[in-house]
Amino acid sequence: MASDWEEDEGLPEKRPDQRQRRRGPSRSQVVRRRVVAIASIVVVAIAVVVVLTSTDGESDHETGAKASHKAAKGGEEAAKAKPESHEVTNATPQADWKPYTGPVPILEYHVLGAPPEGAPYPELYVGRTDFEKQMDWLEEHGYEAVTLEQVQEAWYHGGKLPPKPIVLSFDDGYRPQYTFALPTLRKHGWAGLLNLKAEGSELYESNVKAMIAAGWELAAHTIHHLDLTELGPAELEEEVAGSRKILQKEFKVPVNNFCYPAGQFNETVIEAVEAAGYTGATTEIPGFAEKNAPYELARLEILRETHVAGLAADLKNGEGETAKGGG
Ligand SMILES: [Zn+2]
Repeated sequence: MASDWEEDEGLPEKRPDQRQRRRGPSRSQVVRRRVVAIASIVVVAIAVVVVLTSTDGESDHETGAKASHKAAKGGEEAAKAKPESHEVTNATPQADWKPYTGPVPILEYHVLGAPPEGAPYPELYVGRTDFEKQMDWLEEHGYEAVTLEQVQEAWYHGGKLPPKPIVLSFDDGYRPQYTFALPTLRKHGWAGLLNLKAEGSELYESNVKAMIAAGWELAAHTIHHLDLTELGPAELEEEVAGSRKILQKEFKVPVNNFCYPAGQFNETVIEAVEAAGYTGATTEIPGFAEKNAPYELARLEILRETHVAGLAADLKNGEGETAKGGG
């Protein structure tokens, strides 16, 4: 049973700026000119930030963002500041996509690169050339990566998927997931699924925002990456529901899916995940994910020694009674 490789000592701390959202000055009855002037500057500034950071159509749940945006409607600069779309092709349904409710393979990656001397879990480092070859192989064999949300849209709401859909998931938030996986997937027109620890990942806030802007899905992976089966009710709720709230607030996306740290879960954990409003959760049970097990979605863990041959075999073995021994 693999546990996730945790910290990388060499890299800087991440995600420092939890942006504070301030509301307008409406509570005061005595409205002083200066207060109003300062407040409108703040509102415009917030609106610029919102426009710069939000991705189209994904901020419906963000009433704060909407309010701020509305308040600054007159600010033309804000509208002009909106960047062009950097979404990958498959972030939106393509012409050949069709309704699809069958099993979907979800690959599970951690670090991309060579393991440093003495790395505690060297098997979690997939070589970069190897990774590129795996992506090329997938494309050559007709696979197309989509997000888990797109799969769920097809499973439960009549949405469409490519003929051979696959989800590429990346756990914890290691730097190469931004520096290497993002551009590699982009070449194929694909988006990934980032299962991000709310605290202590290697990714900067700006890295995660760039991935979201490309069409990647952001999923929760708790706050502190603890074994959820060992927590009491309050701590469990904090890790499961709390991580979702943190990511929603910080990145202004729905965060509809959850990933169990080290694949550990039980009935109590599933209940907490459902109660927090997630629509699905990924495990390390080997196999293909299926629509009738939304909180026990299987994944195929890709390790350093998997290579293209192992990936091909895993996919061929389909339903997951693979002899991989369980992640
Ligand atoms: Zn993890």
